[in-house]
Amino acid sequence: MSNSVPKARRYLLGIETSCDDTGVAILDDEGKVLANELLSQIDAHQVFNGVVPEIASRKHFETIHTLLDRALESAGLSWGDLSAVACTIGPGLIGSLLVGVCTGKAVACALGIPFIPVNHLIGHIFSNALTHPELAPPFIVLLVSGGHTDLYAVVSYEDLRHLGGTLDDAAGEAFDKGARILGLPYPGGPSVSKAAETGDPHSVRFPLPLKKQGTMDFSFSGLKTALLYHMKKHPDSSVSDAAASYQEAITDILVEKTFLAGRQTGYRKLVFAGGVSANRALREKARSRAAKWGYTVFFPRVEDCMDNAAMIARAGWHALWSGAVHQPKATVDSSLTIEKTQAVTKGSGSSKA
Ligand code: ADP
Ligand code: MG
Repeated sequence: MSNSVPKARRYLLGIETSCDDTGVAILDDEGKVLANELLSQIDAHQVFNGVVPEIASRKHFETIHTLLDRALESAGLSWGDLSAVACTIGPGLIGSLLVGVCTGKAVACALGIPFIPVNHLIGHIFSNALTHPELAPPFIVLLVSGGHTDLYAVVSYEDLRHLGGTLDDAAGEAFDKGARILGLPYPGGPSVSKAAETGDPHSVRFPLPLKKQGTMDFSFSGLKTALLYHMKKHPDSSVSDAAASYQEAITDILVEKTFLAGRQTGYRKLVFAGGVSANRALREKARSRAAKWGYTVFFPRVEDCMDNAAMIARAGWHALWSGAVHQPKATVDSSLTIEKTQAVTKGSGSSKA
């Protein structure tokens, strides 16, 4: 197995199957996205109000080959043109991850090209690089998704320092649980956001846990309970008003803490990543504060905020060109963290993403 990428064949295949979206993407050697195929399983899970792991892995298994063919076709390439495979190995649902990793390893093995493992969370950070190729560390990143709410100082892409994180629910989880309380459909983020469009964000004063405490940690479970009590106490109150006020509270806290991280580190670039970074109220609030306080904020394109393979390919692309080598023994890890990935990278001296 050669570790160097042959000159004439520099197309990187990215695979993402960590949860309920099957993604396959192809990047060229300048990091340009040539194909980005995504198949959402949302219809299969919506009736259960959440992702059913068994169904998710079966769906990935049924569709991944079609997506591979589609990606090659839309990039105008054939199998022999591929020079490396980048694949999400965690965190995520174990059965779903296994489908992507088995497929990725099979492709790498059959073609004799490197298999590059990618941490899904680092992939989310790189979703910004797809639209902002000029973006370079150091910067602050708020990773805000269904399962994570974490602030990192990105000193370099190989040196991420944790500044704070949620003590209970993730912000996306708060949106999802809030939607359930409000009787809005899954996934909660987009439906709360939509309902909030016609509501008054100042109609209900929800608590803002830890907002002013000077810590970079978050807590959202009390907020969700406050919403539950509010709706129990006022069953006929406006869902739009409650949704708008609830969204206002979540986004207020997220923005407050991200700018606190900027202030405490002195970094002037604030980057947002993960599903919740699609939220319009969050974007507007962060942008207006950045303009007032002299920061630059970066958001991925809305369609790149959700799980997708282009961001995984982009993280793998960075790793590869930073010296990552074929890692056939990389395995899935449902609870993979950024810290674990960094420890492995430093230990092996190979992949640096
Ligand atoms: P994970 O990878 O942790 O499963 P994702 O990055 O896929 O999470 O993001 C999914 C989360 O993002 C869900 O909790 C969803 O409710 C939330 N989300 C998606 N769009 C929005 C939005 N417009 N506003 C707020 N939250 C959103
Ligand atoms: Mg995700």
